[in-house]
Amino acid sequence: MNCTFCRIVRGESPAKVYYQDDDVIVFFDRAPLTPIHLLICPKAHYTDFMDAPIEVHQMLVKTVKRVVTELGEKAKDFRIMINNGPRSGQTVFHLHYHIMAGK
Ligand code: 5GP
Ligand code: ZN
Repeated sequence: MNCTFCRIVRGESPAKVYYQDDDVIVFFDRAPLTPIHLLICPKAHYTDFMDAPIEVHQMLVKTVKRVVTELGEKAKDFRIMINNGPRSGQTVFHLHYHIMAGK
């Protein structure tokens, strides 16, 4: 599939990967808006927030908690952003949560 984040999942496009397992990949945004700006993606392709079942969101929220806990003090205060649809500002149509911290 010609999807930017599927290509990262398959290792066909480079990304600075912070964490991955069978279901999820976490990598640094290539155009960070804050000192720490990570993207949390399910490895399976879902177009957007509304496309994914609740179980996928559960896994992503668990991953957010794990990642910010690991990052410790520098990500104690953080923002989660999810854009759903082009008019929200979504530009990559593979579900992802932004985690932004350090500002
Ligand atoms: P959206 O606007 O869809 O919510 O967010 C897409 C984000 O993905 C943007 O912040 C953009 O900088 C980031 N992005 C787009 N393409 C790539 C890429 O190939 N690699 C990485 N690391 N980030 C990307
Ligand atoms: Zn995809």
